[in-house]
Amino acid sequence: MKSQEYILLEDEFGAHNYKPLDVVLERGEGIWVWDVEGRRYMDCLSAYSAVNQGHCNKRIMAALFEQAEKLTLTSRAFRNDQLGLLYKELCDLTNSHKVLPMNSGAEAVETAIKAVRKWGYQIKGVPEDKAEIIVCRNNFHGRTITIISFSTDSTSTSGFGPFTPGFKVVDFGDAQALENAITTNTVAFLVEPIQGEAGVVIPPDGYLKDVRRICNEKGIVLIFDEIQTGLGRTGKMLAEEHEGVEADLTLIGKALSGGFYPVSAVLSNTEVLGVLKPGEHGSTFGGNPLACAVARAALKVLVEDDLIGNAERMGAYFMEGLRKIDNPKIREVRGRGLLIGVEFHPDAGGARQYCEKLKDAGLLCKETHETIIRFAPPLVITREDIDWAMERIAPILSE
Ligand SMILES: *Cc1c(COP(=O)(O)O)cnc(C)c1O
Repeated sequence: MKSQEYILLEDEFGAHNYKPLDVVLERGEGIWVWDVEGRRYMDCLSAYSAVNQGHCNKRIMAALFEQAEKLTLTSRAFRNDQLGLLYKELCDLTNSHKVLPMNSGAEAVETAIKAVRKWGYQIKGVPEDKAEIIVCRNNFHGRTITIISFSTDSTSTSGFGPFTPGFKVVDFGDAQALENAITTNTVAFLVEPIQGEAGVVIPPDGYLKDVRRICNEKGIVLIFDEIQTGLGRTGKMLAEEHEGVEADLTLIGKALSGGFYPVSAVLSNTEVLGVLKPGEHGSTFGGNPLACAVARAALKVLVEDDLIGNAERMGAYFMEGLRKIDNPKIREVRGRGLLIGVEFHPDAGGARQYCEKLKDAGLLCKETHETIIRFAPPLVITREDIDWAMERIAPILSE
């Protein structure tokens, strides 16, 4: 079958809740993917940072096959021999004390919300049903009803009410606004260290330190959503390390499985997760042995192959190249590690046209918020790969 036939099938029988570039992929290896006509593309999105380890990483694949032949799912009604090992390895790598495993990123966010509410009632003494959580404008934390209840993006929310109460929005990057919004009923502040979906928005230097201090002073839980920024993407294991701070709860997902399988987790540095008692929260697939084996291998690859250091070095090199592009339509090139955004001026005619041209030149990128292109290739990328990419990107983005 040809690309066009697959596209017709998708369009006829599938819900149209995405507007993908018209490229039908059938194979991937490292930073490269191939379409059904055999054309090769460099993947500059990495499934929104889920394939940090590169497509079809051989060692993660081996772990998947090996575990799939032994045991895949027991439910948490019984224990399995992979779960404790994943817990220990995750805690060692991220300096955490406790882990709660889930599947999708949104489930990790929901889990954190439940835990901090309960913590608020049981430990902080907030009156029943009055807990407030503060979040940031232009956040992205997932797609469930509760999570979109505090989204400020009307496309995500309109038509989906009624919404879950208990959330307050402040500007991202404004620590004073957070401080002003805290009341005696505030239990937590939930924030992305860098806003990914909003267009790689980096907060002012010192912001993470300031919010850490404020949360300590006011006795509220600091939650970092590192589902996109974590696990090496920004040149550190966790993006919080750029400012030398630690959240009380850290949410990870996406690259936790290297793209093989949905695996997410809530990492805790306090006793917040301790408020959850048997029967109060769970997931049939959360913490299953197949997911754990895959996640253990995915973490091992990140560390053993120094993908975190590579993200830092290659990110700097890539950004240097992008900054040399001389086009007055480009407003800003910004990033940390291999999470890079190129923002165009609002009157430049949108970023989608560039993404279409990049696709024809062999690079797959996705625009976010009309005017921004995110460059976030797998962390296995080399200097030669970036040179190859820049030879194609520079002329297109110069137009
Ligand atoms: C992708 C993402 C999520 C949601 O993860 P899903 O696995 O799609 O549910 C949450 N937060 C951030 C920052 C993300 O990038």
